[in-house]
Amino acid sequence: MSQHFLLSAKARTLSVRKVMELTDEQAFQMFKEVRWGSGDEVSCPSCGSCRKHYFIRTRKQWRCKDCAHTFSVTSGTIFAFHKLSLRNYLAAIAIYTNAVKGLSALQMSRDLGVQYKTAFVLAHKIRESLIEHRDVSQLSGEIHMDSAYVNGTIREKNKKEDRVDRRLAVVQKPTKRCVFVLRQKNEYADEIIKGSNRTLTFIMKSENQADINKLANLFVKNGSKICADESSAYDILHAKFDTRRVNHGKEYRSDDGITNNLAESYFSRFRRMQYGQTHKFGNLYLANYANEAAYREDTRRLPNGEIFRDIMKKCAKTRTHHDWCGYWQGNKKKEERLVA
Ligand SMILES: [Zn+2]
Repeated sequence: MSQHFLLSAKARTLSVRKVMELTDEQAFQMFKEVRWGSGDEVSCPSCGSCRKHYFIRTRKQWRCKDCAHTFSVTSGTIFAFHKLSLRNYLAAIAIYTNAVKGLSALQMSRDLGVQYKTAFVLAHKIRESLIEHRDVSQLSGEIHMDSAYVNGTIREKNKKEDRVDRRLAVVQKPTKRCVFVLRQKNEYADEIIKGSNRTLTFIMKSENQADINKLANLFVKNGSKICADESSAYDILHAKFDTRRVNHGKEYRSDDGITNNLAESYFSRFRRMQYGQTHKFGNLYLANYANEAAYREDTRRLPNGEIFRDIMKKCAKTRTHHDWCGYWQGNKKKEERLVA
């Protein structure tokens, strides 16, 4: 039997130890290279001019030759106004990369030796970058769909006679949300990646026909095959797509081989992240958590060094966010990302 990819040396091209051994200069060069490439030309975040700007060596900052704006390697990015050393940000990304079932802010705070509040914001800056730069081009081929509920169930009463059927709509909490996933099957099932190779997630208030129809029309190419379970929310898809169903009340795989297991395997990771790491998903950031699990699924067979660079790139491309500058001083997201 061939060796599992994750056990091979190819899967381990990065370690937190290696990152912590970087000098300040190396960490700086790494950030610069990921953001602007290896040349001497850098782009001014204020006016956009890209040339060899004047470099202030002692401050590790540039002064723009066109607009005289002074900027650093993190200016204009999600890590702008940073207080920790650059190495600590790299370490945070490395720890985040290696946490394949997600990472709680408390764990990150212990690993980095920073306050919980710092770690919370840091991890969310990474999640924000991941969702902002996710690939939302249309999925094609075979698409598996499913959804799962979070933040809805009430606590069970102590005495059996006081308990109610927690599935009833009247006893659901108003915070209940539905995580909807669409997963594309890898057409070229190779040695490395079996199953799905692209995942998109969305948050809805309930598993309903209108939202599902809208999302399928936006994100699934015409002529694709859709596999879903028996929920009536997917009935509407038959009109436009070649839709196959599996009745989970009876079986997980129908006699003609239909499953929606790619969607189920996404939720497997998602639930492990919920139960074992984060414990609670605030609705405000639920879309980001759901997308984090999707990202981890899609990159599950990449060497960790490659994932690390990809996350760094996405962070460098993400503009400074009002929601994440002064979060604990009151600046924060006002609305959750729901399918509108
Ligand atoms: Zn400029």
